[in-house]
Amino acid sequence: MDACGAGGPLPRTLEGVYARTVPFSRVYLESAPEKPVISYHANTYILPLSKTIVQIGGSERHSAPTLDSLPLNGKDSETLLLQKLASTGIHADGFQLLQQFVAWDSWTSDGRPVIGFSQTQPRVMTVAGFNGVGFKLASGVAAIAVRQLLDALHYISGPAISADLATLFSPGRFTRKEGICV
Ligand SMILES: Cc1cc2nc3c(=O)[nH]c(=O)nc-3n(C[C@H](O)[C@H](O)[C@H](O)COP(=O)(O)OP(=O)(O)OC[C@H]3O[C@@H](n4cnc5c(N)ncnc54)[C@H](O)[C@@H]3O)c2cc1C
Repeated sequence: MDACGAGGPLPRTLEGVYARTVPFSRVYLESAPEKPVISYHANTYILPLSKTIVQIGGSERHSAPTLDSLPLNGKDSETLLLQKLASTGIHADGFQLLQQFVAWDSWTSDGRPVIGFSQTQPRVMTVAGFNGVGFKLASGVAAIAVRQLLDALHYISGPAISADLATLFSPGRFTRKEGICV
């Protein structure tokens, strides 16, 4: 099982999986908002972590075929962070930049994860390409992956995994066109 996120030793280019940065900053404010704000207009999110600390999503993203070649830079300037707070209607009183990180995740060009046996290593199942939303998908992804493994091992007693689901997340979908709806 290759569930190594953006990293890992096996090539996944054929499977459309690549690495992308996920930058964010943590900032002190006299009064953090009570609820998270997600703003397409301001191209950010503001997430309260406590009554006085917020996390602000970064703007500059980088992509690369592998984690090793991903440039881990692109931190927002203080000016940009203040603009983001202003454009989401959050008071910046007491603003103090505390921490900045450039994290990463694995991405796919159609926004769906890859779950299935690898194109290059047929005995390996690839489970990657979570496009920055892997927490939310984890239990569903695990159920699909386990079902595929049981299918492959012929241990399954119930109906096989639906062809639609297998196709939707198939590692081969970027190298062939039939049956794909993106
Ligand atoms: C800052 C940030 C905020 C996020 N917020 C959210 C959110 O609010 N909601 C949400 O749904 N998702 C969120 N995500 C996305 C979510 O964290 C990822 O989509 C998810 O963690 C991806 O899971 P994964 O198992 O593919 O990879 P990872 O979580 O990266 O796990 C891969 C693991 O494999 C290990 N590994 C790598 N190479 C090897 C190797 N050769 N051998 C053994 N182990 C190896 C790594 O050390 C790592 O522990 C966020 C991501 C970031 C970075």
